[in-house]
Amino acid sequence: MSKKAIFAEYLKQKTMATIRFNALKETLNRKPVDITSNQRRSEIFAENVFNQSAMRQYLTKDSLKSVQQAIKKGSKINRELADQISTGLKEWAIKKGATHYTHWFQPLTGSTAEKHDSFFEPIGDDESIEKFNGEQLVQQEPDASSLPSGGIRNTFEARGYTAWDPTSPAFVWGSTLCIPTIFVAYTGEALDYKTPLLRSLQALDKSATAVAKYFDRKVTKVNATLGWEQEYFLIDKALASSRPDLTMASRTLIGHSPAKGQQLDDHYFGSIPTRALNFMRDLELESIRLGIPVKTRHNEVAPNQYELAPLFEEANLAVDHNSLLMDLMDKIAERHNFKVLLHETPFEGINGNGKHNNWSMATDTGVNLLSPGKTPMKNLQFLTFFINTIKAFHDYEEIVRATVASSSNDHRLGANEAPPAIMSVFIGSQLTKVLDELEKVKDGKLSPQEKTELKLNVVGKIPEILLDNTDRNRTSPFAFTGNKFELRAVGSLANCADPMTTLNAIVAKQLKDFKVEVDQLIADKNLKKDDAIFNVLREYIKKSKNIRFEGDGYGEAWEKEAAKRGLSNNRNTPEALQAKISKRSIDLFSELEIMNKVEVEARYEIEMDDYSKEIQIEGRTLGDIARNHVIPTALEYQNKLIENVQGMKAIFEADFDEMAREQMNIIKEISGHVSQINKNVQDMIEARKKANNIEDATDRAYAYCNEVKPYFDTIRYHCDKLELIVDDELWPLTKYREMIFTR
Ligand code: ADP
Ligand code: MG
Repeated sequence: MSKKAIFAEYLKQKTMATIRFNALKETLNRKPVDITSNQRRSEIFAENVFNQSAMRQYLTKDSLKSVQQAIKKGSKINRELADQISTGLKEWAIKKGATHYTHWFQPLTGSTAEKHDSFFEPIGDDESIEKFNGEQLVQQEPDASSLPSGGIRNTFEARGYTAWDPTSPAFVWGSTLCIPTIFVAYTGEALDYKTPLLRSLQALDKSATAVAKYFDRKVTKVNATLGWEQEYFLIDKALASSRPDLTMASRTLIGHSPAKGQQLDDHYFGSIPTRALNFMRDLELESIRLGIPVKTRHNEVAPNQYELAPLFEEANLAVDHNSLLMDLMDKIAERHNFKVLLHETPFEGINGNGKHNNWSMATDTGVNLLSPGKTPMKNLQFLTFFINTIKAFHDYEEIVRATVASSSNDHRLGANEAPPAIMSVFIGSQLTKVLDELEKVKDGKLSPQEKTELKLNVVGKIPEILLDNTDRNRTSPFAFTGNKFELRAVGSLANCADPMTTLNAIVAKQLKDFKVEVDQLIADKNLKKDDAIFNVLREYIKKSKNIRFEGDGYGEAWEKEAAKRGLSNNRNTPEALQAKISKRSIDLFSELEIMNKVEVEARYEIEMDDYSKEIQIEGRTLGDIARNHVIPTALEYQNKLIENVQGMKAIFEADFDEMAREQMNIIKEISGHVSQINKNVQDMIEARKKANNIEDATDRAYAYCNEVKPYFDTIRYHCDKLELIVDDELWPLTKYREMIFTR
């Protein structure tokens, strides 16, 4: 609902309490919106995507070949062919009902950006054509001076351009042809999420292919694969817009937890209500038309919480698909009178939303490098990539923690339902045993017997399918789940690109170093290839042991143990982000040519600034709700009680004290909470003023975190107490139980 519509709604009704009741009535009277499509999913899959089969139909042989080369090898497409491609693309798009086109990109705001231009172009008095040429396909200059750049584009060179990314196919959504693009400054620095991601994929390809060649000379390319799982809440539109905090801050800032929460676990895998089911079907159909291979759906832990997961894809495509899906969700929810809440913790005390990122590496020969195989050689390959990933995670854990930091994810990490803020790796007992054995491998050359022994008893013992054998440890932020690692610390609101860029980068760096070390052992010590590999892996197992943890990540014991092991435990965003601009981080990204120092620092600035702004908005909204809604309502109820007490006094003069004691106590209690709220809101405003005057983005973010945010809990505590006392008929804010259990 637009802001205008919300305010129009307010004006029609007299009080917030009326809005609350009307929203409830509206919700209870809703009928499911019908989805009348009996088309087979396989028939409509990717029908709105300019994929290989559409290209074959609409492109000339030469232009098709040049796109394929660009996808496979990153080669440039020349102007003449770009013109041919754009003509084919335009014809296809118009057939699909497109009237406009846009360069679709992911600026550092976290959402997607697009600027629509019409194909239609008048030429002369009464003539017009549909125009779209190579130049319009390949490069555009959006008026994007208000998108964040972290100071890269200062005002006099406020120019950036978008450039076509042929590795992610164009698609038609509604009446618009969307062309996935990168967004960079004229000086070359990345201004978006996609550019560094693409560079990280190249770096990983280079390092991983070189290592994969130890095992199979035929490998010429390695792709990162990503399968994300997106969690979200579905709340009725009317209920959501009755809450100013959900509207302004995307989460509830006050609200007492309901008598029944998720303690019965009856929602998990339970039956899905028809309205929600129809929304999901609609979302799935649209996703499938856009080539997003969605498959699973089930209820999550919390009431009205759901999850959507596609099959895994090449990481760049998967990231685009996740961004696209988040947009789609909003639009389709509108049709079904729902609001999708993607915030990590929309409701305090109730399970939050996350976005698990399942990650692996795949060769162009069709092999998943993190999947054990049938032969000892296959398993040695598996162990090589497996152990290198663990070592990378060990060496750069704090940088991984930084990439999942955000003000909203702070509520989730370490809140006992999501992974803790401490990064660790879980691999399960079976693989732990294998690594323990490998650690004992002797130094230097292995005798033929030793090698046979090793291959038979250790490497050969890794079962081909680990999937069912890996125990599930839900508390681990980075768990090996049979044929992939699952990064569970990513925020549900986040763009997956940033964590994926980091994961690609650290593993690329690690594999690059590994190759150097192995080659050196082969050259210097005259070792056989597999001897050298065993030797290096053994050292890695020893060096990265500290990051491995199989126990309960939520426990206090782990916190102590992790501190002893020297692992980082950065509990809030400003603290966590420091690792982003550390020398280690800048060295890592510059060495691999993913981001230079300026680009890394710009991102850090933007994120610190975002953090302050988000806390600022929450603080303002909370202050408004507390003072304009909660206090007046509490006083109104208190006045009712005072009238009651005065009436009592007139009737029961003799035993008045006895009769009115409880009412008097409530009157006092209300006064206590009201004065606490008022005082703390006042102090919070003062703290905010101070924070706002701080020039430096880092100091400002710390001030918001340490001086402003602490008031939230206190203010909330007293508001929530009042919710329990005040007459339900007067209460202005839709209650948790109403939002969560009303369908
Ligand atoms: P859970 O909910 O138990 O974590 P799911 O079965 O819901 O597990 O999710 C598994 C996810 O892992 C799916 O999104 C799937 O696409 C993804 N996945 C499977 N294999 C790979 C792989 N090789 N690379 C990346 N992701 C993968
Ligand atoms: Mg998962």
